[in-house]
Amino acid sequence: MEQVWRQAQEEMRKRVSGIEYRKWVAPISPIEWHNGTVRILVQDGEFQSWFAQKYEELLEQVLESILEKPISVEYKLKNPELFESKDLVRKEVSESNLVPHYTFENFVVGPSNHMARAAGVAVANSPGRSYNPLFVYGGTGLGKPHLLHAIGNQAARNHPRLRVLYITSETYVNDLMSGIRQNRMDHFRSKYRDFCDLLLVDDIQFLANKERTQLEFFHTFNALHAAGKQVVFTSDRDPHELSDIEDRLKSRFEWGLIADIKQPELETRVAILRHKAESRYGMEVPNDVAMYLAEKIKDNIRELESCLNRLHLELQGPHFEMTLEGVTESFDSYFKRQTRRVTVEQVQKSVAHRFSVTVPELLSPSRKKNIALPRHIAMYLARKLTLVSFPEIGERFGGRDHSSVMAACKKIEKNMKVDHKLHQAVTELQQRIKR
Ligand code: ADP
Ligand code: MG
Repeated sequence: MEQVWRQAQEEMRKRVSGIEYRKWVAPISPIEWHNGTVRILVQDGEFQSWFAQKYEELLEQVLESILEKPISVEYKLKNPELFESKDLVRKEVSESNLVPHYTFENFVVGPSNHMARAAGVAVANSPGRSYNPLFVYGGTGLGKPHLLHAIGNQAARNHPRLRVLYITSETYVNDLMSGIRQNRMDHFRSKYRDFCDLLLVDDIQFLANKERTQLEFFHTFNALHAAGKQVVFTSDRDPHELSDIEDRLKSRFEWGLIADIKQPELETRVAILRHKAESRYGMEVPNDVAMYLAEKIKDNIRELESCLNRLHLELQGPHFEMTLEGVTESFDSYFKRQTRRVTVEQVQKSVAHRFSVTVPELLSPSRKKNIALPRHIAMYLARKLTLVSFPEIGERFGGRDHSSVMAACKKIEKNMKVDHKLHQAVTELQQRIKR
């Protein structure tokens, strides 16, 4: 049997990389052969679970071809007591977070996104072997998470043993924080380094200004990359423009391939609209209708989707006809309402309400943080959503100077890029006010 084992190891050596061989194949040895099973001695549960997922099948195949009969592998642990805690990690990450219906099949391709999609397909088909890392960037509402999930879903389908993990960079930050707080950094590291073969990280720009997280992430990335595991990032901007992320981390982003997703052209928007209408509602949208809607909504596919929901609702009504005429009639007022003039007072009211302060407080001289922040946000939104000038906004905010309005707007704009919570709060407010 010793000779069979040596032969099997030689066979394995040909099929895995040198590093893998040294780390995973060389250290194992058979301790028992019994009918169709071979029991191998491995150091601990972590090794076992990793080996079982990555190499067990290969080992069985190799042994079967040598012995010409079915063989199954069993394990014995040198250090069984380690198993429990590692088992816990594994359970936690067995959740890949993948959304099954985000696939390549329903990702509509056009000139604006074909490169990012092609790179994604390549990565999904041979993770760790094509572009590593893959870095995808583009504005909001252009489907970056869709692409990430599609990569994950296809990779998981192609490679059933691959362990895929989708996270937003915010999840990573939170995990790290609780790892530090609970003194469970081993657990944290193990989760991201050992129990994941394909890591999909959405919205990496939120690591900006978080030095401790960037350092940890740098090490996570290096560990994964060195082990030949695939990493895919998305960001709302080009890596060069991630000004508050350390250079050494940024330089890693550029190791593989950088692909952008642009605003989709009219034809692509039409195709997306018709595709979604069909797949979501089984609804046929005539070309001229799709064209009319896609011309109105240019820069955000989410809005295109909400248009579609509306269209579907309209269709339930008794008199609605899906013709260019019918749709124009019903949607004209909708689009008008959407672009309806917003007033400074509306902005002030909504912002005050959202932050539980009063409008007079917002307009007062108080510099308390819980009042100054909503005030700055309100100024920013007033400028963004109304046609009112800086001096006039200053006037309406308790007689302030135009320069302080400008400073406030700049500050909010800048902070929104790095502060996810702020970004979300402001975006939500903006949507509510527009409605
Ligand atoms: P982002 O995070 O980039 O802002 P989201 O995924 O949140 O984008 O929103 C975009 C929406 O548009 C998603 O529902 C996504 O499915 C859809 N979408 C974007 N691009 C495409 C495309 N090419 N084909 C189909 N759906 C798309
Ligand atoms: Mg996003």
